[in-house]
Amino acid sequence: MRVVVVGYGMAGARLSAELVARGRDVKVTAFGAETHPAYNRILLSSVLAGRAREEDLTLAAPPSGVDVRLGVAVTGIDAARRVVGTPDGEEEYDALVLATGSRAVVPPVPGLSGAAVFRTLDDCRRIVAGAGRARTALVLGGGLLGLEAARGLAGRGLDVTVVHAAGHLMERQLDADAAAVLSATLRGLGVRVLVDAQAVERVDGGLRLADGRVVTADLLVVACGVRPETALAERAGLAVGHGVVVDDGLLTSAPDVYAIGDCVEHRGTVYGLVAPAWEQAAALADRLTGGDSRYTGSRVVTRLKAGGIDLAAMGSLEPAGAEVLSFADPARGTYAKLVVRQDRLAGAVLLGDNPAVGTVVQLFDRAAPVPADRRTLLLGRSLGGGPAAVAESPALMPDRALVCRCNSVTKAAVTACWRGGTRDVAGVAAATRATTGCGSCRDAVAGILDWLSTVDPGSVR
Ligand SMILES: Cc1cc2nc3c(=O)[nH]c(=O)nc-3n(C[C@H](O)[C@H](O)[C@H](O)COP(=O)(O)OP(=O)(O)OC[C@H]3O[C@@H](n4cnc5c(N)ncnc54)[C@H](O)[C@@H]3O)c2cc1C
Repeated sequence: MRVVVVGYGMAGARLSAELVARGRDVKVTAFGAETHPAYNRILLSSVLAGRAREEDLTLAAPPSGVDVRLGVAVTGIDAARRVVGTPDGEEEYDALVLATGSRAVVPPVPGLSGAAVFRTLDDCRRIVAGAGRARTALVLGGGLLGLEAARGLAGRGLDVTVVHAAGHLMERQLDADAAAVLSATLRGLGVRVLVDAQAVERVDGGLRLADGRVVTADLLVVACGVRPETALAERAGLAVGHGVVVDDGLLTSAPDVYAIGDCVEHRGTVYGLVAPAWEQAAALADRLTGGDSRYTGSRVVTRLKAGGIDLAAMGSLEPAGAEVLSFADPARGTYAKLVVRQDRLAGAVLLGDNPAVGTVVQLFDRAAPVPADRRTLLLGRSLGGGPAAVAESPALMPDRALVCRCNSVTKAAVTACWRGGTRDVAGVAAATRATTGCGSCRDAVAGILDWLSTVDPGSVR
């Protein structure tokens, strides 16, 4: 079977590798508009912050059997003839997969087009080069990406101001109280935040705001969100809503044309995160090689990857008909909110150092009942001041607990590696891919191995 993949980013590369790994008679041709081999886009924030090097972005090289054409954008789809068009000619397919990702949104503000955005490795290089010549920076957009960029630039010694149109930061994930604590934390890290600040024009050296103020800086970065890249699908007449519409089989409205990753809208949701993209890649690889896997949706947790800020947000904070618990200690940069429905977590925000974060995420993942004493989750410890009943010891983690969210790796899978003779994080990464996404689970994997070395030292292959 000839599979053509359009887009060789995090989803397209994973799908190509999964298809070949299944060892069936599949010929994969992948087109990537970027000139770089697929890289870990998530870690661009760490490169911008100077906490990672470009080499750290490297993803596994494409397996032999995948014909990767870099720097080649697919320009058209003829679903009736089963061919895609490129500047070099046409390519026939039996199955076509769109993995075209997202593109950065630049608001229609006069003068803004051409400003630096933050989506690709080339964008990141451009910002880092600009930062080297700048003392001050403006970041337009106080969402997740904008704040990661702002924190990274502040870490490089720049005086940074975030200009955000909404009434509070990260309004899609946080309520106003959490955002106020986050703003204060950012201020302490050298990032000034302007909210309710509508940019109306780019002027020489800065932005004019709707209230007439002009804010200036040496460097401007636009981080106003992303939009699924659907242009190709739209031109081909596929059903497109917020993204390319797919069913549980990842099939679009056209026969033998599938879509995965950021470009997709599944059951009304556009995720824009890597864990769903990789789950979709695995399910589709199975289907295209004779299996019947279905993708039914993901429960996502958002984490801010910014040095000095611990923030996890998940689910919905809608209070109607729910039990809502919150705790705020703005002076210490701590805020926690839990929204509980029928004894299960519907949503949560944990900001600042909270030892219960892993447990809260696990309960949310598994839609498991929360403890009767909610304070253990809210504060990370019982009222007596002792350790939380739901401490994060690997011993107390259920086997089904997700350790690596990006790659859906459970504690049981890490334990299985150990029992097979693997003794270090690199070995677990090679066997399960744990730690190879955002990398935030590295300590948890190391902790489980450490625990196993105590409780199960004799286990060998
Ligand atoms: C700075 C940053 C930080 C992030 N942090 C996180 C995080 O912490 N956690 C998380 O889960 N997610 C994060 N994300 C989002 C994550 O990177 C995406 O969810 C993921 O990359 C989606 O993979 P994808 O393959 O669908 O899209 P992409 O990785 O964007 O790849 C799509 C590729 O398709 C190519 N393409 C598009 N059109 C064509 C065409 N016509 N022909 C050929 N090629 C084409 C594009 O050039 C691109 O290379 C972050 C993103 C950024 C930018």
